[in-house]
Parts: sequence; structure tokens; C-alpha cells
Amino acid sequence: MLNVPSQSFPGPSSQQRVASGGRSKVPLKQGRSLMDWIRLTKSGKDLTGLKGRLIEVTEEELKKHNKKDDCWICIRGFVYNVSPYMEYHPGGEDELMRAAGSDGTDLFDQVHRWVNYESMLKECLVGRMAMKPAFPKDYHEEKKVLNGMLPQSQVTDTLAKEGPSSPSYDWFQTDSLVTIVIYTKQKDINLDSVIVDHRDDSFRAETVIKDYSYLVHVALSHEIQEDFSVLVVENVGKIEIVLKKKENTSWKCLGHPQENHNSFIPKKDTGLFYRKCQLVSKEDVTHDTKLFCLMLPPSTHLEVPVGQHVYLRLPITGTEIVKPYTPVCDSLFSEFKEPVLPNNIYIYFLIKIYPAGFFTPELDQLQIGDYVSVSNPEGNFIISQLQELEDLFLLAAGTGFTPMVKVLNYALTNIPSLRKVKLMFFNKTEDDIIWRSQLEKLAFKDKRFEVEFVLSAPTSEWSGKQGYISPALLSEFLKRRSDTSKVLICLCGPTPFTEQGMKMLHDLNFSKDEIHSFTA
Ligand code: FAD
Ligand code: NAP
Repeated sequence: MLNVPSQSFPGPSSQQRVASGGRSKVPLKQGRSLMDWIRLTKSGKDLTGLKGRLIEVTEEELKKHNKKDDCWICIRGFVYNVSPYMEYHPGGEDELMRAAGSDGTDLFDQVHRWVNYESMLKECLVGRMAMKPAFPKDYHEEKKVLNGMLPQSQVTDTLAKEGPSSPSYDWFQTDSLVTIVIYTKQKDINLDSVIVDHRDDSFRAETVIKDYSYLVHVALSHEIQEDFSVLVVENVGKIEIVLKKKENTSWKCLGHPQENHNSFIPKKDTGLFYRKCQLVSKEDVTHDTKLFCLMLPPSTHLEVPVGQHVYLRLPITGTEIVKPYTPVCDSLFSEFKEPVLPNNIYIYFLIKIYPAGFFTPELDQLQIGDYVSVSNPEGNFIISQLQELEDLFLLAAGTGFTPMVKVLNYALTNIPSLRKVKLMFFNKTEDDIIWRSQLEKLAFKDKRFEVEFVLSAPTSEWSGKQGYISPALLSEFLKRRSDTSKVLICLCGPTPFTEQGMKMLHDLNFSKDEIHSFTA
């Protein structure tokens, strides 16, 4: 979270006011401080005009963008649209304009060497300079010397006709490591954008970019150790997977291509990939709902994005049966942290066991140490829906609470603009309420959070709300702060509950963009 200083910014002796070399600074207009710039860059506003897409920029193209309101500058091979930054630039607009439409690396180095421009201008990144068709003669030599690299494989891009531009990959090695680099050509790439599975000699890295999937799938030419690391350089959309060699020998090639290697296809056209996970614990949460903890196999990197679900697969009477489930945190108090190595290896599920159901009784029969297959994540919840949010309303019925867990946790931890999160939780009886005491504790601890329970079949002692989802309940509950405040309402429960809820919300004049319903 941003630590907003209480004093005026920049501080009186801050480097934002006085450059080390005594370079004169131009007085910035009100609301144009570095902190204002950082706020703007975190606001989710499209600062490049390219909607998050990264492009390859030719020299001819760069030259065209040489005006104040359309100013691109290249620094160390990366091109930035600095027009939105003009008024925030401590050195003034004229200084920035000296590099308009050209390579400003030298100018930049003269004045700003210490500035972390990659992070400051991260949201202004337009893309990379396109390689000239003919490399300088010593291009490969130079790369080898610079990186200590041994032979690399170049791949041909499978260009998608529509959608994001096709990623590519490359690899290099040192004596002990092999690094696979995936160039996604997109911003908004996180650790949960890539899923890596290594079994025997098969190595599979699937990168999800919007609705597309890019796959690196090879039979490795040599053995590697069990643990590997995955790093993401968000601002340039680069993913690095660092493998440890078992023996310090030089690899002549990365390996042999396997099915769909180097393909970039719509996600809907790819099959679901499963890995076998081990049941490590199972805990009663209510009389019929349990918290299952599954452990990913070694050599796996998989983080399920907020609001997404996976499929669990079990052989039942000789047939593989698949049902969707939404991973949760182990409790409402497990804070959202940047995952650190070793990779997160546990996935938690809150699952209601239906005695007359098909799948859940089988799941309930599993013993600790047994296996269940878990798919790659799916779902259409986009985390940016939470950006700049002021009021978040969650309407959950029964296990429809499960997608709310991570949404709630993420919003409270990561959205500085958040004013209120209100959960209305519909159940039959008090005994059916999942994590009731945790919810009450959270409401006590964090004043932004409120919870209201509504029961459809309460006992006579129940003094809270009762009944079903209704326009009266909703209009009283969904109070927005002002007509312009940014609001999101998430809904999940039995299909008729969700459908009726959607209709009621439309009738209450909430727009489509303000509603997200979780469905299969
Ligand atoms: P089913 O066989 O589907 O039966 C469920 C109940 O319906 C039983 O009581 C059964 O007797 C009754 N029933 C079945 N067929 C009929 C019929 N024809 N007429 C009348 N009654 C019938 N559930 C969770 O617990 N946790 C989650 O995190 C979770 N996430 C989900 C995410 C998504 C995207 C979706 C779509 C669903 C999710 N679910 C979740 C629900 C889950 O996928 C299963 O539907 C649920 O576990 C029931 O599976 P089952 O095979 O045991 O029961
Ligand atoms: P449940 O206990 O049967 O129902 C929870 C509450 O909702 C009860 O008060 C129930 O009232 C009420 N309700 C049921 N049907 C309703 C309707 N048509 N209109 C208004 N209220 C209704 O719920 P559950 O067994 O836990 O089932 C949860 C559902 O959520 C499942 O269908 C599951 O598939 C779905 N789910 C979806 C996702 C997703 O991401 N899409 C994730 C998790 C769960 P009464 O029973 O007293 O009538």
C-alpha cells in the first residue's frame, strides 16, 4: 500500500525539489507531485492509449510521436509514451521534449541516472524498439559474451489473427542453471499468469494472456533438480523460469518439442491440463462442509488467481468425473502476501458434502495421502474490476461464499481506495454458516468490513434477518456513498438465487459493469 506522507510533498529538502547536480527544477502545478504521479499510475488509467498492449516500435514510428500531446521516447530499447508524465516531470516539459520521438538514453543518463525510470514510467511503456532486419554481424557473439550464454533457440511466432500479439521464448544457460525466458509482450503479467509443471523429462509452461494461452512444452534434453524458481518482470512482461541442472554439463539444446509446443491459441481451444495433488488435511467447518487442503506435486508452479476456480477430477466407478471448485485461503486472516520461494504448494477448498450427491461423497471418502487431480484455473473474474473501488458488496448463498473469500481478502489488503466491504450471507440455518466466527472477528477487527446473515429456515431464537434475496433486502443493504462512487457487487449461490439477484440489481439501476456473477 502507498505510504502517503502527511507533510506537503515533495518534502523541503527532497530530491524531488532539488536535483543532486543543482539542476533547476520547474515549479510543478498543484496536484502534479511525484505522489500524484504514482497515484495516477496506480489508478488503472490507460496511459499509453494502447489498452495494456505492448507493441514493437520501428524508428519511423518513433519519429512520428514528437509532440507534447503525443510524445514517445526510447530509453535503453524500451519506448515510453511520456505525454501523460509531462506535467509531472520535475525537470519540466521542455527538457523531456528534447528527446521527443527519439532515443533519449544518453540525455537520460546525463541527468537522471539514479532514477528508477522502469518503475516510474512502467504504465507508460509502449513496447520495445523493433530489431533491425539485419543484425549487426557480431550480434550473437555480443549476446554470448554479455550473458555468458551458450547456444540459444530462436522460435517462430505463431501469430494469432486477433487478440494480443504472440509471445515468444528463448533460453540461456550458465554452468549450473538453465533459464527459460518468455516474452509475453503484455503488461499485467503476474506470478499467477504462468503455470509450470515438470514431470520426468516433460517440461510444460503455460502462460495465460487475456483469453489466450501460450505454451512452452518440451522434453528436456537433460535432467534437472526438483526445485525451480519463477520470476516476473512485470513492466516489460517478461517471465523467467530458472531451472537447476542436475549435472554441470553444457546443453546443446533445451529439448524436443512436445504437443502444442510454442503455440498461442485461444484458451477456449486448449484442453484442461491436470496434475495429481495429495490430500494433506481435511477439517470440519460446519456439519456438512469441510476445509480440504491439497498439496501440489513437486516441480509445480500454480497460483489460482482471485475469483477463479479449478476442476477437481476423480475416477468414480471407472469414469473420470470432474466438478468445479473455488480455492479459498486457509482462513480469513491469512494475509495476501507476494508469494515467496519456494512456490506456494497448498490449495485449500471449502466443500459441502451432499450425502445424495455424486462427486462430494467420493471426495469425502479420500484418505490423507490419497490423490485427486486438479486442473489449471478458469474463470472470468478480472482483478482490475477491484481497482479504485470504493464500495464492494458481496451477496453469497451457501457455498457461493467460496469465491468471496479471496475477493474479500484481496480487496481489504490491496485496494487503498476501498471504503466499505459488505457481505450479505444467505443460509438455511445458523449451523450452515461457513466461518461465522471468523467473519464476525474480521468485522470487529476491520471497520471497513460488515457482515449480515440472512436465514431462510431459522430457529425461533434467531433475531437476525430472515427470508430470501429480495428487492427490499437489497435496496436497504446496497447503499452507495454517492452517485459517482465506484461500486462492485459480486453474487454467487444456487443458479436461481444468482439469476434472481441479477434481475433485482438491474431493477435497482446498477449497471452491468457494477455486477459480477460467479457461474461455471
Ligand atoms: P450432485 O450430484 O450435483 O448433487 C447435489 C445435490 O443436488 C444433492 O443433494 C442431490 O441429491 C441433488 N440433486 C442432484 N440431481 C438432482 C435432481 N435431478 N433433482 C433434484 N435434486 C438433485 N461447491 C463447493 O462445495 N465448494 C466450492 O468451492 C464450489 N465451487 C464451485 C465453483 C463453480 C464455478 C461451480 C459452478 C460450482 C461450485 N461448487 C462448489 C459446486 C460443485 O461444483 C458441485 O456442484 C457440488 O459439490 C455438488 O456436487 P455433487 O456431485 O456431490 O452433487
Ligand atoms: P443452499 O444451502 O441450498 O442454499 C443457500 C441459501 O440460498 C439458503 O438460504 C437457500 O434457501 C437459498 N436459496 C436456495 N435457492 C434459492 C433460490 N432459488 N432463491 C433464493 N434463495 C435460494 O446452498 P448450497 O447447497 O451451499 O449451494 C450453493 C450453490 O452455489 C451450489 O449450487 C453451487 O453450485 C453454487 N456455487 C457456485 C460457485 C461459482 O463460482 N459459480 C461457487 C460455489 C458454489 P432454502 O434452501 O431454505 O430454500
